[in-house]
Amino acid sequence: MGITLRFVSFVNRYDVVLVGAGIMSATLASLLHALDPELRLLLVERLEAPALESSAAVNNAGTGHAANCELNYTPLQADGMVATAKALSINAAFESSLEFWASLAEQGLLKPEVFLHRVPHLSLVWGAEDVAFLQQRHRQLSALPAFAAMDWTTDPQQIAAWMPLVMEGRGRDQPLAATRIERGMDVDFGTLTRALLAPLQNAGALDVMFGTTVTDLHRGHRLGVASERDWVLTLRGPSGARQVETPFVFLGAGGGALPLLQSSGIPEADAYAGFPVSGQWLVCGEPSLVERHHAKVYGKAKVGAPPMSVPHLDTRWIDGKRSLLFGPYAGFSSKFLKTGSLLDLPMSMRAGNLLPMLQVGVNNLPLVKYLINQLRQSEADRMEALRAFLPEARDQDWTLSVAGQRVQIIKRTPEGGRLQLGTEVVASADGSLAALLGASPGASTSVKIMLEVLERCFSQQLTTAAWRERLQRLIPSYGQDINADPALLARTRERSDALLGLVAAP
Ligand SMILES: Cc1cc2nc3c(=O)[nH]c(=O)nc-3n(C[C@H](O)[C@H](O)[C@H](O)COP(=O)(O)OP(=O)(O)OC[C@H]3O[C@@H](n4cnc5c(N)ncnc54)[C@H](O)[C@@H]3O)c2cc1C
Repeated sequence: MGITLRFVSFVNRYDVVLVGAGIMSATLASLLHALDPELRLLLVERLEAPALESSAAVNNAGTGHAANCELNYTPLQADGMVATAKALSINAAFESSLEFWASLAEQGLLKPEVFLHRVPHLSLVWGAEDVAFLQQRHRQLSALPAFAAMDWTTDPQQIAAWMPLVMEGRGRDQPLAATRIERGMDVDFGTLTRALLAPLQNAGALDVMFGTTVTDLHRGHRLGVASERDWVLTLRGPSGARQVETPFVFLGAGGGALPLLQSSGIPEADAYAGFPVSGQWLVCGEPSLVERHHAKVYGKAKVGAPPMSVPHLDTRWIDGKRSLLFGPYAGFSSKFLKTGSLLDLPMSMRAGNLLPMLQVGVNNLPLVKYLINQLRQSEADRMEALRAFLPEARDQDWTLSVAGQRVQIIKRTPEGGRLQLGTEVVASADGSLAALLGASPGASTSVKIMLEVLERCFSQQLTTAAWRERLQRLIPSYGQDINADPALLARTRERSDALLGLVAAP
């Protein structure tokens, strides 16, 4: 601490410091400002602009995950039924995101057309076993109000009407089946992140420091108030090092959240380690193809493949420009951020998380093998995987693009190390610090995840009439279960669609 202070240019205090300028911090900052416009917020980002890591549109798939088409959210159970609980909760979480964005649009703070596009979500499978699985999934989901609009077909002509390019040149040697939900979304999370931050900066509520890395955080006495303890963050930027103090820190640093959580020294951090998975896409901008595919088409992951590697062929809008994306091709890199260091993984190893990491490695050998195989893939292998979706795909129309890093959570549990493929909010017992670990479904459910941060760290404020009324205006269904009340679900969707201009495509 003494050494650090010698380089400190000034000390400043904020009500909230958010580390990392991705969709999570942007969403939390936006919620906090809406709930209490007096709060002084600081956002610290190591890169030169917002949303250059996982939240950048080119680094993720931009699917508004609502469990419409992602088959890994409804695994087949031993009794022959599919599990629907996860699909329902992800669907409801995405509706919360739409509700919040709709409220900001209503206030003139967001222009939905720059980041949100309506595009049908489809699942496509082949082979008798997978067709039977999809039929079972359709049977169960379409009986639920959230998925009542799901269509199903095994008719090649209908499938060709839904996704013409996918059927061109395809042999008729095995059974095919597809489901379709017309009200699906593509989201440019990079544009959304920037759009959420801009009005806060314009209102003077948010200071932003780019090119500045948080290198340490610890508990210290608040300046002049020895009885109160603040977080003291050391920041290193273009003009040297400085410190800022705050009663609340949010570590929205994506892959960089785990090292910072470990550096905070809170006991809750001890149970965690990270396992980075890298990814690549094939991207196509050829107008004659782009115009003929209007859908996100998700397939089924290969046996042994992790859920995040489910192949899909998507219509995308990136910075307003339409393209096609296929992938992801998973791989392994020890970096926690795309712009991170190969030392990220080794540097995150601690006495307390080494055994869980080894246990996860041993217990997930098919995953390790899968990732190694993916790394070995040649261009021809990648094109072959694409041709399972687009039989007539030509090499020259597709280029390889590197996706963001996903740091999957390894958690120490009484039963041993466990690999978790979702996200988890880790908060200190006193609610003064929260971090978001994990990757998926991530950005689509950012509003629900940040509401959890509020519930765990701002529970006192959430009991006040002012916060409750404002939150209810922002997210009218807050506190209610839209899956238990079909009328509420319909009202919620109608309101969001109207405010976000989400009319069905002709
Ligand atoms: C290949 C891939 C596909 C995906 N597809 C989808 C999808 O289709 N739909 C979906 O909803 N989600 C998807 N996701 C997940 C989604 O991208 C993430 O959940 C989301 O972007 C995470 O946002 P974030 O703000 O937590 O992190 P990020 O966007 O990664 O932002 C973290 C920021 O913190 C900064 N930072 C890190 N360390 C420090 C430090 N010490 N000091 C200062 N700044 C720091 C980084 O530079 C970065 O800008 C996908 C992710 C990947 C990788």
